[in-house]
Amino acid sequence: MSEENLYTFENEAYRKTYWHTCSHVMAQAVKRLYPQAKLAIGPSIDNGWYYDFDCDFSFTQEHLDAIEAEMKKICKERLQLVRSEKPREEAIAYMDSLGEPYKVELINDLPADAVISFYTQGEFTDLCAGPHLDSTGRIKANAFKLTQCCGAYWRGDSKRKMLQRIYGVAFPKKEELDAYLLQQEEARKRDHNKLGRELEYFTTVDVIGQGLPILLPKGARVIQLLQRWIEDEEQKRGYLLTKTPLMAKRDLYRISGHWDHYRDGMFLLGNRDDADDDTKEMYALRPMTCPFQYQVFLNRARSYRDLPMRLGETSTLFRNEDSGEMHGLIRVRQFTISEGHLVLRPEQLEEEFKGCLELAKYALDTVGMLENCTFRFSQWDPANPNNKYEGTPEQWELAQATMKTILDDLKVDYTVGVDEAAFYGPKLDIQYKNVYGKEDTIVTIQVDMLLAERFGMEYTDVDGQKKIPYIIHRTSLGCYERTLAYLIERFAGALPLWMMPTQVRILPITDRAHDYAKDLEGKLSAAGIRTESDLRSEKLGYKIREAQLQKIPYMLVIGDRDMENGTVSVRTRGGVDLGAMLPDEFMAKCLTEIATKDRSF
Ligand SMILES: [Zn+2]
Ligand SMILES: [Zn+2]
Repeated sequence: MSEENLYTFENEAYRKTYWHTCSHVMAQAVKRLYPQAKLAIGPSIDNGWYYDFDCDFSFTQEHLDAIEAEMKKICKERLQLVRSEKPREEAIAYMDSLGEPYKVELINDLPADAVISFYTQGEFTDLCAGPHLDSTGRIKANAFKLTQCCGAYWRGDSKRKMLQRIYGVAFPKKEELDAYLLQQEEARKRDHNKLGRELEYFTTVDVIGQGLPILLPKGARVIQLLQRWIEDEEQKRGYLLTKTPLMAKRDLYRISGHWDHYRDGMFLLGNRDDADDDTKEMYALRPMTCPFQYQVFLNRARSYRDLPMRLGETSTLFRNEDSGEMHGLIRVRQFTISEGHLVLRPEQLEEEFKGCLELAKYALDTVGMLENCTFRFSQWDPANPNNKYEGTPEQWELAQATMKTILDDLKVDYTVGVDEAAFYGPKLDIQYKNVYGKEDTIVTIQVDMLLAERFGMEYTDVDGQKKIPYIIHRTSLGCYERTLAYLIERFAGALPLWMMPTQVRILPITDRAHDYAKDLEGKLSAAGIRTESDLRSEKLGYKIREAQLQKIPYMLVIGDRDMENGTVSVRTRGGVDLGAMLPDEFMAKCLTEIATKDRSF
């Protein structure tokens, strides 16, 4: 049996070995063409590989093309990859003689007892632990592509030199490469970070800062619609609305545990050096709403009759994440979320958890995202070295066992995420992937048996005893900025009618129809349909194309005959001609689709 039969591309280890071998071939090609380039590192990644080079000129597309051509030659040369070892001093002297300072640094950083291995293919030798394919001939010469080149700091350290990183991807067959490249092109078209800016949903500006997006009128409108809907839905489900401060003294976060467990993630208002000096005043912007909403419960003595108490708030939160992590509307430093905390008796836990899950599923289903969600039961890791978790092992075992029973009773199909829990308890995380396949949490429901006690929360039970309640922390649609990003990607900008910033655009064919158009606009607007008229003296075809590019759901074309008959000619953004209708008829159709949150087109 040949080696290929034992290893397939579906096998992650094999795939990564293949891609990593490609990185050696790429480095060899670069050294052949540009001997002055210095080699840094070249690992495989989730979708291909990269290699970092230090070079005195910038790689352009022409360079990448030349490197690709040289790589094809190397594949056809069928060079064997031969492993060898060298003692540390010899290894350093060798890489020094080749003029590779980054490799020398890497060897110096290896532990004293490390085996230092090299792989040689033809005239090219690289420091590497392996493994690799046994020959460059195993790489299909027509099924790889260098996809991009960008700057990357040596060792990810912004104080070190900026190197050039070339990315590549490879497959066993050319058809698979072509399919992948096509899919990436489609993803780029849907990427909210591009499309959302082009359609003017949001922008970012340097003087405000990274991760602090500005919602332009269209984006602000969509988020307002989502918020109103969720607030109304929560009211129907027995939630009490709260409005609590965006900041608090450090004393509050000390009680909640955020001061100990999350301080680096918070924006402190005051001198960070005084953070532990109690004689100096210190505030912090809130990273979550929990400790604020607990004060609502604590406002007066509570009995079992007050429970469950479901508190909801459209809450703006602040998280001091690394600027390198920022991405459009998905990873931001300030965001708004439908936060909620349910204070309950232990025997109410399952029922309330179920209610939270139903609300989240309803919300995600209504906007068309549920079908692409996955569920993760996020648990603690007792061995977490950073002392991340509060509470005793017994408390964690109880919380996780209870949650497992609930999830199994509700027949939730979940995966387990170890060391993904909140510091106060396990979570059910609803996960969603962006167009490039990068996964983030969109909604979370968390069971907390610890924090109520820390805040002195108690209630008088039926038997007259004082007891400590349980808490559920939950969201129902995730943070609105992130949800907007996913919706733009999911619908390629063509959001369902009910949440489109502009729902109808009226397109008069001639100036004669302007008054009719304005009347109609007034009538639709009065009925709550977001309508605008395009009164420019452009050709109709041009106006239609522009409305379609803006993804406006309905276009009402008005010609002379429509004016005579008192009708409108209805077209959809998908290019379907629905023919002439009476304005009332169109309005009724539109209002029904809005009321039912229709997303059929
Ligand atoms: Zn290697
Ligand atoms: Zn919370």
